[in-house]
Amino acid sequence: MPDHTPGPDLLESYVKKILAAPVYDLAVCTPLQAAPALSQALGNQVLLKREDLQPTFSFKIRGAYNRLVQLTPAQRLRGVVTASAGNHAQGVALAARELGIKATIVMPCATPELKVLGVRSRGANAVLHGESFPFALAHALRLAEDSGCTFVSPFDDPHVIAGQGTVAMEILRQHPGPLHAIFVPVGGGGLIAGIAAYVKYLRPEIRIIGVESEHSACLHAALAAGERVVLPSVGTFADGVAVAQIGAYGFEVCRNHVDEVLTVSNDQLCAAIKDIYDDTRSITEPSGALAVAGIKQYVARTGACGQTLVAIDSGANINFDSLRHVAERAAVYDAAYSATALPTLAEADQTR
Ligand SMILES: *Cc1c(COP(=O)(O)O)cnc(C)c1O
Repeated sequence: MPDHTPGPDLLESYVKKILAAPVYDLAVCTPLQAAPALSQALGNQVLLKREDLQPTFSFKIRGAYNRLVQLTPAQRLRGVVTASAGNHAQGVALAARELGIKATIVMPCATPELKVLGVRSRGANAVLHGESFPFALAHALRLAEDSGCTFVSPFDDPHVIAGQGTVAMEILRQHPGPLHAIFVPVGGGGLIAGIAAYVKYLRPEIRIIGVESEHSACLHAALAAGERVVLPSVGTFADGVAVAQIGAYGFEVCRNHVDEVLTVSNDQLCAAIKDIYDDTRSITEPSGALAVAGIKQYVARTGACGQTLVAIDSGANINFDSLRHVAERAAVYDAAYSATALPTLAEADQTR
């Protein structure tokens, strides 16, 4: 359980960890890139933080490396065990290889093959277990207990959260001007907790908005209940965020420092993957498009106009075969909603 003091001290302790995190041994400072077509369509300046361009094609390398470098020499010798939907797995595999640590990584059986290959090609031991992340997690915890290896959580750990928080440090340096909101995809809450801690400490006026898949909205459920609840089931289309319970450390930050949480459908994700493609010619995985889907929903609901909105484009690990399905659903969604979206666009044009 978290043992920090709540309040400003909590944020400050994370900011210190974020500033000290040596993530650039492996991670890169990714571009904060304009999305001109989306910006025009929405009447707001949309900026994409391109975490899909990390060496493992997602931001998870930041937290994984920051966690592994903190291990004691004895812990390094024994090795690590982790559970992951696939992206943290690749981060741990790469960080472990870099540091010479033996890694065993449990992933759900349905993990996209390229994520499994991404783990094995980096020399880690990949174990496929369970139908979704919660089952893989239980298995990994048992393995850690039996083997004496250190369990490395994909999100519920202050060093992991601090590693992910370096994304916010880069955003504020890359965009010192006015920023209205940062939209952050949420799975177990490590990324949004790190970002919220850093941003609310330094620029509390910037809104932090979480975006969840409606099939794994565990932060939304926890905030509504006032405590961490376990979802009875999770959908795995957005496999990178298919988590049933928000992390304890993450929730400690999020309950006071996240302004709002939105949920989006699978079809909204498919449409957002297309929007990102149109602006960048890059393909994101479903979880990677959550933030853009959230911005579209937010602008449609609030009528926001002329604001600067950042979306974390969090990952690109999607099987090539899945693109057929994504393209089909995006077409269905756009056909159903383009009619209703048009008046908003016309209004936006008039006000510019
Ligand atoms: C892990 C992940 C997320 C969510 O991060 P959490 O720290 O679990 O909330 C979002 N997008 C992608 C691509 C991820 O791999």
